[in-house]
Amino acid sequence: MKACFLGHGSPMNALADNAYTRFLGGYAASLGTGGGRPRAVVVISAHWKTRGSFITGAARPAQIRDFFGFPDSLYRLEYAPPGDPELAAMISAAVPEIRVDGSRGIDHAGWAVARHLFPAEDMPLLELSLDAGLDGAGQAALGRRLGALAPEGILFVGSGNLVHNLGDISMDPDAEPFPWAVEADAWLGDRLDAGDAAALVAWRERWPQWRRAAPTDEHYLPLLYILGMAREGRPPVTVFREIQNGSISMRSIEVDVG
Ligand code: ZN
Repeated sequence: MKACFLGHGSPMNALADNAYTRFLGGYAASLGTGGGRPRAVVVISAHWKTRGSFITGAARPAQIRDFFGFPDSLYRLEYAPPGDPELAAMISAAVPEIRVDGSRGIDHAGWAVARHLFPAEDMPLLELSLDAGLDGAGQAALGRRLGALAPEGILFVGSGNLVHNLGDISMDPDAEPFPWAVEADAWLGDRLDAGDAAALVAWRERWPQWRRAAPTDEHYLPLLYILGMAREGRPPVTVFREIQNGSISMRSIEVDVG
């Protein structure tokens, strides 16, 4: 099984037809070549941060439109695949500090990405919250325990953005990337290619550009869960790379789970 971290960027990517959405469209098929079609997707969401860990347990989770000031067409876009209450219960039984939230829906870190991966709306979609009570090493360790459940047919997807500063972006999605963002993204790319998970977990000590590149941590942290799942000695592979809106890194990576 593979697990991946996918950039999601602006909610407008849910509607867009661009290099990134075309990448996502083909990516689900490439995942199927190894372990077959997953039973369900569990998204570790940049847009759901909690004390403690929660997983969505509704059979028909609502589509949460957690953004403001976008065109009506985005609010009208419907993508609401089923949940998988049995799977949520199984994950909670295996990792007891993860509690089931039976009423929470799916935010756009989940559905805006899943809609391009599995457009038929038939792939069960669950979300896991980011545990704000854990440090980076704790989040990677939790990822490791979750990764042990991947053979049940679970595709784990971290959904965030590795460089993400909404106070320092261009409104033009195709703007020329800002030099600081290119530099910050390149540092991450080097550490990922080197399989240097220790540097990525200790990012606030090691990443020279972190204050500008990730002034808030919620879009970065899903990466740590996915790094925790990676098989020893197999560096992550960057499967897509682009900077949208001048500074939002859409860098997406996958790991072999093991
Ligand atoms: Zn986001």
